[in-house]
Amino acid sequence: MTTRGVAILGSTGSIGTTALRVLERQRDRFHVAALTAFSNAPLLAEQARRFRPSFVGLVKNGTAEHAAWGAGERCLVEAATRSDVDIVLNAVVGAAGLDATVAALEDGKRVALANKESLVMGGALVADAARRGGGELVPVDSEHSAILQCIAGRPGSEVRRLVLTASGGPFRTWPADQLDRATLADALQHPTWQMGRKITVDSATLANKALEVIEAHFLFGVPYERIEVVVHPQSVVHSFVEFIDGSVLAQMGVPSMELPVLYALTHPDRVADTGVPPFDPVELSPLSFEPVRRAEFPALDLGMQAGRAGGAAPAVFNAANEQAVALFLDGAIRFGDIARAIDSTLGRLGTAPGGSRDAILTADAQARRHVQELFRC
Ligand code: NDP
Ligand code: MG
Repeated sequence: MTTRGVAILGSTGSIGTTALRVLERQRDRFHVAALTAFSNAPLLAEQARRFRPSFVGLVKNGTAEHAAWGAGERCLVEAATRSDVDIVLNAVVGAAGLDATVAALEDGKRVALANKESLVMGGALVADAARRGGGELVPVDSEHSAILQCIAGRPGSEVRRLVLTASGGPFRTWPADQLDRATLADALQHPTWQMGRKITVDSATLANKALEVIEAHFLFGVPYERIEVVVHPQSVVHSFVEFIDGSVLAQMGVPSMELPVLYALTHPDRVADTGVPPFDPVELSPLSFEPVRRAEFPALDLGMQAGRAGGAAPAVFNAANEQAVALFLDGAIRFGDIARAIDSTLGRLGTAPGGSRDAILTADAQARRHVQELFRC
């Protein structure tokens, strides 16, 4: 039986290493055709020895030892468009993933998308690339994987509402007056998921949920007024879909990214996978739901407003957030400054046009500069 070639962009990260664990058990269906990382050459070399891809790419810090590898930012697009690649798992973090998502879709590939930032920035560009090239976008994000599984091919006219669940992050129950000065160590203590540092901070501010609302809008074509967010601290219900007859479907499971990663590769088929822990409803009980504390976590509404505004506003929201999170991770600004930076940047650049790649990248660069100037970094 021939196996399908998978390129993993960001193979050294949290999703990338999860994907390699999944693929190790699926060698009769898939093979690893390409791997890329940013600068972690030792781990990338170890993965390359183990999985023997035909292409390896390292954006930065390659040495003479890595002469056979692709290098520089272009190596992502190179990996994503190779003829032996059928599926591109984009597990890069941040705006750096945009060109590879677009190039893979233009080349007719399936993109298993973890890199939500690329869809948020360039929703229309990404959709257009898929249309022109015949590529297919399948979400890896657990909420969107849940929604895809609940919709299960039913027409959009039957969907009334999407309800995305949010764990609430480490500060779900913190009093408002302590949030501003929450430390980096506090923010990196996610209650239910082990993830990279940027998305872990995004989960603490709820900017991640805003990115996910915009992601859901572009993936499923549902207008923003019919996408809601509810806090669900146990992260067992991965999201809900309400249909026009009032029926509500949810997809559930213990919090693990292995299932959504595997499903993005096999959709619409399901395959046996021993890596997914067994489901025990009694052990997972009780499941609870609560409203988002919107005033305390303003990044959610800021992002949803940016989504509704359209144009380059989602790209401005994303870039301001990325820049502010980078400063917070460096210890240069306070936790509360992240949402303040987003607010200020959207106030300045929120009506920027977003019709082309150039327009989006210009808005992205201006937003990053605005945040740097705000804190004089
Ligand atoms: P990590 O930070 O753990 O991994 C990021 C990966 O991307 C690494 O392989 C890193 O390489 C590479 N990378 C970083 N910057 C660049 C760049 N500028 N150019 C090329 N490659 C780069 O992130 P996660 O795995 O947690 O997240 C990846 C994406 O998946 C994000 O968009 C996130 O929102 C999304 N996601 C993650 C989930 C999770 O459970 N982790 C859940 C749902 C979505 P190196 O190691 O060399 O730095
Ligand atoms: Mg998610």
